[in-house]
Amino acid sequence: MSDYVLVINAGSSSLKYSLVDAATGEAPAVGLIEQIGEAKGHHSHKGPDGELSTDLKVANHEDALRAALDAFASHGPSLDDIEIAAIGHRVVHGGSQFGDPALIDDDLVAAVTDLVPLAPLHNPANLEGIKVARRLFPDLQQVAVFDTAFHQTLPPAAYTYALPLDLRDDHGIRRYGFHGTSYALVSAEAARLLGRDLADVNLIVLHLGNGCSAAAIRGGASVDTSMGMTPLEGLVMGTRSGDVDPAIHAHLVRELGRSVEEIDHLLNKESGLKGLAGGNDFRELSSRREAGDPQAELAFDVYCHRIKKYIGAYYAVLGTVDAIVFTAGVGQHSAPARAASLTGLEGLGIQLDADRNTASSNDARAISTDDSRVAVLVIPTNEEWQIARETIDLIG
Ligand code: AMP
Repeated sequence: MSDYVLVINAGSSSLKYSLVDAATGEAPAVGLIEQIGEAKGHHSHKGPDGELSTDLKVANHEDALRAALDAFASHGPSLDDIEIAAIGHRVVHGGSQFGDPALIDDDLVAAVTDLVPLAPLHNPANLEGIKVARRLFPDLQQVAVFDTAFHQTLPPAAYTYALPLDLRDDHGIRRYGFHGTSYALVSAEAARLLGRDLADVNLIVLHLGNGCSAAAIRGGASVDTSMGMTPLEGLVMGTRSGDVDPAIHAHLVRELGRSVEEIDHLLNKESGLKGLAGGNDFRELSSRREAGDPQAELAFDVYCHRIKKYIGAYYAVLGTVDAIVFTAGVGQHSAPARAASLTGLEGLGIQLDADRNTASSNDARAISTDDSRVAVLVIPTNEEWQIARETIDLIG
């Protein structure tokens, strides 16, 4: 059997796909179709026979997947030459049912559909991707890999909200956590870099991408994490607010007459760095900050202050910490964000090496001083590879 997995990440108006060799992490093809259902969409595809970047009007996810298959034919690799072992789907919310990846069948589709109320912004799109792929590849095994699964080890004290019992028991209102595939990959890699068994290390991992979250990981198991029932809670993100006083919601309704849909949109799409400084791209924000823009400076400060607070909190949760790990776009590439998030934490045994922090590298590496009690690591994440590996592991 081949180790090639077609990894599909279906969003509400996008379809991201990659063909990944689960054994090596190599991806001979990666592609993205955006603005599905809109007047003007875009398709990019990178394969061994060239790169495609073209405007393309795409009506729905089925047309998007068909366009992806056309791109495999025109820009490679040819799917006649490469045998796909299975399809791995990223599914955002697996509720309390799914602590592991699961083979996709009608029952699984029904179970993920039942979870839509917990993830109305994500699961419907993931389901659409699953349905379309099952139609176009009826003979291939397909696997759902859940963002929440890694955090099923959270203890009740960490996952329980202080809300009445009926809400918690009857409506599944609890903390679930997300970015699980990233945490699984990065924590294993961190143990390797430290030369220790994963079972013996305590880690604080900071996944800082467009979505941002933190996790306290003891011996490879998540014991606390910043995202909650949905991916809105916790750190400041590109467009999501992260933690806000829940009374703000009632205030927005009562005093400003906002609807529930408007508040959902506000907190998920118009807040975070975008709300603070007008844009969600951290690179742009960094350039503006360097040019002395006070809004960008405040956004950066709020963003890093929140990270520092979570590091302190998770240090207390874990008791001892072997490493703090930065990953994803901002975590891997922004030396100023890493430095600002760790500044003043020397008393906790965290000593950043300024030169190592600013040295340019795409490799997994340590950026702490040699005598830092707590190692500080930068580890590239690769959620597609992890999804491919978990898919192959499941189908055997
Ligand atoms: P991700 O969701 O992991 O792709 O991360 C996306 C975020 O990482 C965006 O806000 C990017 O602006 C940010 N990012 C990517 N490269 C850099 C960089 N070199 N410096 C600062 N931020 C970056």
